[in-house]
Amino acid sequence: MKTYDKLIFELSKPGRKGFELPEDQFNTNGLSSIPTDLLRKDEAELPEVSELDVVRHFTNLSNKNFGVDTGFYPLGSCTMKYNPKINEELAAMPEFLALHPLQDASTVQGALHIYWDLQRMLANISGLAEFTLNPYAGAHGELTGLMVMRQYHMSRGDEKRTKVIVPDTAHGTNPASAMVAGLEVVEVKSKPNGSIDVEDLKPLLDDTIAGIMMTNPNTVGMFETEILEIAKLVHDAGGLLYYDGANLNPLLGKVRPGDMGFDIMHINLHKTFSTPHGGGGPGSGPVGVAAHLVDFLPNPRVKKAEEGSYHVETGDQSLGSISSFFGNFGVMMKAYAYILSLGKENIKNVGPLATLNANYIKESLKDDYLLPIEGVCKHEFVFDGLKDKSTGVTTLNVAKRLLDYGFHAPTIYFPLLFHESMMIEPTETESKETLDEFIEVMHKVAKEARETPQSVIDAPLTTIVRKLDETSAAKKPILNYKALKEAEA
Ligand SMILES: *Cc1c(COP(=O)(O)O)cnc(C)c1O
Repeated sequence: MKTYDKLIFELSKPGRKGFELPEDQFNTNGLSSIPTDLLRKDEAELPEVSELDVVRHFTNLSNKNFGVDTGFYPLGSCTMKYNPKINEELAAMPEFLALHPLQDASTVQGALHIYWDLQRMLANISGLAEFTLNPYAGAHGELTGLMVMRQYHMSRGDEKRTKVIVPDTAHGTNPASAMVAGLEVVEVKSKPNGSIDVEDLKPLLDDTIAGIMMTNPNTVGMFETEILEIAKLVHDAGGLLYYDGANLNPLLGKVRPGDMGFDIMHINLHKTFSTPHGGGGPGSGPVGVAAHLVDFLPNPRVKKAEEGSYHVETGDQSLGSISSFFGNFGVMMKAYAYILSLGKENIKNVGPLATLNANYIKESLKDDYLLPIEGVCKHEFVFDGLKDKSTGVTTLNVAKRLLDYGFHAPTIYFPLLFHESMMIEPTETESKETLDEFIEVMHKVAKEARETPQSVIDAPLTTIVRKLDETSAAKKPILNYKALKEAEA
């Protein structure tokens, strides 16, 4: 093993250093302002290495990772599209990066302008009245939106409305958020084509229903054509419509949830609006509401005075605070730069291009892969594994084999509607050449499954680690060197 392939702790040599802190950086004359009971008693156990060791360690580590910047990443429902670097650069400008959340509003007018302006843009894009940008992620937005829903019914004295209808195909966060918001989940069935069964919905609509959570296009990538009827039924029963807008890509600039009858929604800025994601954050899940719900939005809120200045307000009817200060401002900056750089005209191309790319892959592969739902999909679609089920090759095997060919796997075994789900979302940022290469490799894997199935079952063969024990990886993760040594002992 080469020196630099070793773990950084194994390179440690007592006394070897890459950096030296200045003696008394904060001029404390040796008196630290940190309370003594919080001071470290023992030396930190850090590897003692040179700067070059560190540089090689992290550079090599980064090369072992797979990201949108290294290859095609068709992970359905996750919108792994390319995020232009200019947006990162703008978000990292010191004028914004160095702001402090406790600064007086008069000193941060530019930042408040961006918050307010972005909130207006999202309102225009989605057809709702006003947005809060405070939530930190999609699921956090769902919780916030459901709290708005609850607050609305309570404000009318309609306290028995404690149930939320969620389709059986919904993203797992939907029922989870409903539970956290103290609401009871009622499931509505989907038809074989993946859309909500209106006949199954009707009997659920009584005066205990707070609302319904939906997404459109739905989880299998199909547009719910009966949405206007569903909206009318739910509204007539006194409920509200919540839109899970985590994946706004397919609609961008074309269709607006507000126009479909939705009252509340969240958007994942870290999916549709140019923030890299997948490593666990930071994200942003703005929540938008229709005019009659604006007063319930969380505190604090940014307001614009008639003469053009901005100030911060807290509302009496607000559901309260759901984040510290205003959420993740850096993510808002990226979204703002992204929307402005596309402009009103170009943003209209995002949805159609994402849709075209998904349909191109779907139609090109349906001779080898089982397509359970025919017809034009939106930004993503689902295969139910290989068409030829006699080979013993599963969706998991195909997903692992794709890694050998340098592609990230699609989302697998979700949605639960099918046994061998393989959910593919190419996004609008990929070229036709890349799509063609992916299609070619998918055909190749299908051929291998027929001719040499074991080569697919044994995959991945070329990656740094082979097939992982995913249960242990999730339940007993080894996150540092000490834990690794203990596990090996
Ligand atoms: C990603 C996603 C979410 C959750 O978003 P997080 O930011 O991961 O909390 C919710 N709903 C759908 C449909 C999603 O794709």
